[in-house]
Amino acid sequence: MIVDYHLHTSRCGHATGTMAEYAAAAEKQGIAEIGFADHFPLELLGFTPQHRVNMPPEELDKYVAEVRRLQSRLSIPVRLGAEVDYLPGREKETAAALARHDFDYCIGSVHFLDGWDFTHPKEVKRYAKLDIDELYEHYFALIRDMAASGLFDIVGHLDVVKKFAHFPRHDWSSVVEATCREIKKADLCVEVNTAGWRAAVKEAYPGVMLLRKCLELGIPVTLGSDAHSPKEVGSGLRRAVLLLARLGFREIATFCSRRRIMRPLFPL
Ligand SMILES: [Zn+2]
Ligand SMILES: [Zn+2]
Repeated sequence: MIVDYHLHTSRCGHATGTMAEYAAAAEKQGIAEIGFADHFPLELLGFTPQHRVNMPPEELDKYVAEVRRLQSRLSIPVRLGAEVDYLPGREKETAAALARHDFDYCIGSVHFLDGWDFTHPKEVKRYAKLDIDELYEHYFALIRDMAASGLFDIVGHLDVVKKFAHFPRHDWSSVVEATCREIKKADLCVEVNTAGWRAAVKEAYPGVMLLRKCLELGIPVTLGSDAHSPKEVGSGLRRAVLLLARLGFREIATFCSRRRIMRPLFPL
């Protein structure tokens, strides 16, 4: 059972291809279900980023309408999702903005630390000046706040702070433990995001230590390629399913109208 719940579109300004091309690529690969999760307009949350990394606000209605059109044309379920930044202090604005559309799911992601767009290739110099242990503490504290906010259904690329292959020097298992406990308490799902295999770190998000903790605590998982072009649709998802199976996962989460539906990883 392969789903791809993390598809971007050219509307965000740093992805290519039409939505129909993404959908056709998924159908061709036999992916059971897809969901678009383009970058939600940050301006609607009251934030203007350093680089444009999201849909302009005026594109949101068109994005929703295009997903609806594809739903009636495709042979597989197409879900309406969004990848939404967790911005501390902007919870009320975020809740109000998300309530305006009938999303099937919302992925909550952290891409900014005090305004620093730390996953952006143009912003990597800053890492050299930082204590990576402290960076991890700071990042995962935000993830815990995001979980506690109750705004989202899925945690996006849980450990994307490792994107450029920076890892803590000291044991950080207590951070893993505290973060996964908060995710469990909030009843959130974690995506296995395969973009990490295409990034400098060459590991899926999240890594095995976090995935094992998710399994131990009974945190559900889903799958996403984080495709920014039609040819990235489905990328690494078979590998991700095999990884999940090897670790002992037996189910994956799907979503409809913000309700979670668990499906067997290997249907009979
Ligand atoms: Zn993106
Ligand atoms: Zn993201």
